[in-house]
Amino acid sequence: MKLEKYSLGVGDRFGHQAKAQLSACRRASEAGIEVVPVWNKSHREHMTIGSEPASVRRAADEAVKTLEWQGSYYVDADHIHLGNVDGFLTCSDYFTIDVAEAIGKEIGRPAVDNFLAHHPELVGRVVIPGIEEPFDISADRVREIAANYLRAAGEAGKVYRYIQSARDGSPFVAEVSMDETDRPQTPPELLVILAALADEKIPLQTIAPKFSGRFNKGVDYVGDLEQFEKEFNDDLAVIACAVDRYGFPDNLKLSVHSGSDKFSIYRAINRALKRSGAGVHLKTAGTTWLEEIIGLAEAGGAGLALAKEIYAEAFAQVDALSAPYAAVIAIERDRLPAVAEVAGWSTERFVDTVRHLPADDRRPRSAHFNPHLRQLLHIGYKIAAKLDRRYYDLLIACEESISRNVTENLWVRHIKPLFSPES
Ligand SMILES: [Zn+2]
Repeated sequence: MKLEKYSLGVGDRFGHQAKAQLSACRRASEAGIEVVPVWNKSHREHMTIGSEPASVRRAADEAVKTLEWQGSYYVDADHIHLGNVDGFLTCSDYFTIDVAEAIGKEIGRPAVDNFLAHHPELVGRVVIPGIEEPFDISADRVREIAANYLRAAGEAGKVYRYIQSARDGSPFVAEVSMDETDRPQTPPELLVILAALADEKIPLQTIAPKFSGRFNKGVDYVGDLEQFEKEFNDDLAVIACAVDRYGFPDNLKLSVHSGSDKFSIYRAINRALKRSGAGVHLKTAGTTWLEEIIGLAEAGGAGLALAKEIYAEAFAQVDALSAPYAAVIAIERDRLPAVAEVAGWSTERFVDTVRHLPADDRRPRSAHFNPHLRQLLHIGYKIAAKLDRRYYDLLIACEESISRNVTENLWVRHIKPLFSPES
């Protein structure tokens, strides 16, 4: 099972948008761009929504059948570890093994010594084709990186082998994620991490490091664009080198988590992919739920009323909703409009406030666009989950406006700038 060069993680929290998401890939295919969908949903999201992993597989299969999609597609058990992988074993064929928790955990001196003895190539002047300036990594530095990441690599190996034996030979795509941590991993660190993962004999197809800069939920990238581009290019070179040196599958690629709405880095990614010929996996999740809200509002009437009600509830619970997301949101409370004000908004006003357009779009970003409100709604899906049938019934009633927005968002604002040859 070999993941294609370009793939898009399509999170679908409430499980109603698989067809609309697949339509975006179909639009790409009609335009000559091959992007395969990977439906991702984490244990955490299942817990919040009250859904079962098998429901993602069902929705994906049904969408593929209805749209007669001939390409590949995958179902990703996102951010799993030994404690929660069991429910995903039969219905997923893509596993994102999250080892961020194990980063920095104590590892004995002998393990570090052993790693260094096996990897003399990592010490000193390390020349990576595609990176102008060779890395100069002292033995102490390699030792430090190894001490920080060896436990995580070992954990990834353990989880990989567990899945492999539980699936009894049934093939799957393996990703290792380290993005949900405080500190970004530099390209030299990535090289050491890949060496450690190779020692674990994981046939890795994607790896999700933490990049520098802020990847806030549902809004644009915040950080130094030039530095991001350099780091991304260096990471691609490190991966190509690791494929050669350590025998990883030749399609090994970067996975960009919290990748939706990061408009200002898409051109840099596009350039890097074209220049290097590399592939990428970009994960999106909450952006589709935000399009559901926009679609509800566009439908007017009960749809608009429910969108406002969700905002009002989220506003009331802002502290509780924000707590688990502190590292990945930046909501300024005093920039959130009062509930009474939002209650008086027209459809147009509500949509203009939530819809996120690239700043350099030919249409200028609406003066009403409010990233604080948008982030609050992003983390407010718990509110909709609690509405249960009321929410699902309106999703069905407002299907036209919702699916139109879901498809357009993924195709026009994500796939096109990322993968289009003209972009
Ligand atoms: Zn992630």
